[in-house]
Amino acid sequence: MPAVDAPISTRVLVVEDEQKTRESLVEGLRLEMWSVASAGTGSEAITLVEREPFDLIVLDWMLPDRDGIDVLQHLRSRGRRIPVLMLTAKTTLNDRVIGLDSGADDYLAKPFAFAELLARCRALLRRPLGTAGGMLRCADLQLDTRARVAVRAGQQIPLTPREVDVLEYLLRYQGQIVTREMLERDVWKQTHRMTSLDNVIDVQMMRLRRKVDGEGAERLIHTLRGVGYRLGKESE
Ligand code: CA
Repeated sequence: MPAVDAPISTRVLVVEDEQKTRESLVEGLRLEMWSVASAGTGSEAITLVEREPFDLIVLDWMLPDRDGIDVLQHLRSRGRRIPVLMLTAKTTLNDRVIGLDSGADDYLAKPFAFAELLARCRALLRRPLGTAGGMLRCADLQLDTRARVAVRAGQQIPLTPREVDVLEYLLRYQGQIVTREMLERDVWKQTHRMTSLDNVIDVQMMRLRRKVDGEGAERLIHTLRGVGYRLGKESE
């Protein structure tokens, strides 16, 4: 009988010092038929990464020896581009910024649902290597497309998931006219509706503009009456 090649399994490293959490993560990820290794300290994690290839690292921020950020910086400084999903109880903007600067690809705040973790892992595994750090900018506005966090003049803007989608779209097309049809097709993903989404889109845009172009801020989202919208500096 010919030998059957073993399927090439996804290799994941879980770095978490809390034993129960670590074990349940390992167990859950193995149910995905992934090959899962685990480490309880930062040094152990680094040793493992230097020894074996991994496709993804789930990395806890708070570790007993060197913390997650330190581990991440160590890996990135050695040119290791393995996607890293950072687990953190720290959800303030400042912490997120530190994590991003260190090269994390995504974040998940504790406590989280396992299904959410799995979805984030899958998304990172689908992403081609080297595309980490999805920052879109215009003037003092920036959107981290991985963490889905928007910041204007250093202040986080509270956005709904739909608003993040719209803002990302506008930023990708910045300086160009974005029509309602484009938003309907690419953001709302509805092309076969009987009724137009124009009103929905207009209301959504009004809300988004109020949040992004708050009091005193330079206007970045412009309405082109009867045409659509444009994101960019006034002068452009
Ligand atoms: Ca921990």
